[in-house]
Amino acid sequence: MLRSALLTAGRSPSVRRLVEANPLTKPVVRRFVPGTTAEDAVRATRELSEHGLHVTLDRLGEDTLDLSQADTTVRDYRRVLGVLADQGLAERAEVSVKLSAVGQFLPDDGEKVALDNARLICEAASAAGTTVTLDMEDHTTTDSTLGILRDLRVDFPWVGAVLQAYLRRTEQDCRDLATTGSRIRLCKGAYAEPESVAYQQKSEVDRSYVRCLKVLMAGAGYPMVATHDPRMVTIAGELASRNGRTAEDFEYQMLYGIRPDEQRRLAAEGGTVRVYTAYGDEWYGYFMRRLAERPANLAFFLRSLATR
Ligand code: FAD
Repeated sequence: MLRSALLTAGRSPSVRRLVEANPLTKPVVRRFVPGTTAEDAVRATRELSEHGLHVTLDRLGEDTLDLSQADTTVRDYRRVLGVLADQGLAERAEVSVKLSAVGQFLPDDGEKVALDNARLICEAASAAGTTVTLDMEDHTTTDSTLGILRDLRVDFPWVGAVLQAYLRRTEQDCRDLATTGSRIRLCKGAYAEPESVAYQQKSEVDRSYVRCLKVLMAGAGYPMVATHDPRMVTIAGELASRNGRTAEDFEYQMLYGIRPDEQRRLAAEGGTVRVYTAYGDEWYGYFMRRLAERPANLAFFLRSLATR
């Protein structure tokens, strides 16, 4: 119940105004979001890469209903990709893109706008020598996002996508996408979804995650194991070995600020580990999803406010 209340608050403009107006919020947000500018993102990338970690940068912003805002997002992605290349960091860092931030929800031709904008970001990534992964948002966008993925992969076969284990459809999507060259990030899923489309119990979601992992690890694609769950991390490692995969054939992914010691431990043991690093002014929705995921994150937030 707390989770869905926080996710609802994450979509409420009035709660957003309250949280954003509180001067004590920002220092807490910094635990999950290293800054607001491309320079902050590149600095965080450098620091993480010094610990042997890879990075995927997400320029925060979602649900854009404004064409010029979508254009700004595209410009920022292209700029940060240029800076990564100039600073020799493109081998270590790619970008993650929410299609809703580049126009997917615009009336009439939103899908086409999002496809064209994603294409521009892919061109910049290609020039920089790195890749793009499409984030997955709520279930109403899954078909559209996978359709755009298919279109993009014609010219940019390295474009990756996210699948969410809480959706009942995902095991089949994993089967369809576990093909040569396909990069699939498997996560549990962060949105409040109805029972008709999504497993509701954590145990069901975990079992689905393992089934999906089995499909991806046995398939021909490149699995990206996005979880902080120690059990899933262990199972992923075992499945990778069983399927003859080395550290070049799959990667672990975690969010910036969450289990940083574990991120470094896995990398020190020779694993490929990528840290999803979100940056930008539009941190509110992302931050609320992090609070919703884990009561300890919420407790940390409230404690920080109380002790300042
Ligand atoms: P949970 O079931 O939340 O937690 C399981 C266990 O993991 C916990 O019991 C604990 O032991 C450990 N753990 C979890 N969180 C913490 C913490 N903060 N500190 C310490 N231990 C912790 N969701 C989407 O819907 N779309 C996306 O595109 C998307 N992209 C993602 C990309 C990456 C790289 C990652 C890591 C996640 C992404 N997510 C995305 C979020 C994801 O769906 C989950 O909401 C989030 O990862 C929490 O699930 P979990 O697998 O970590 O396990």
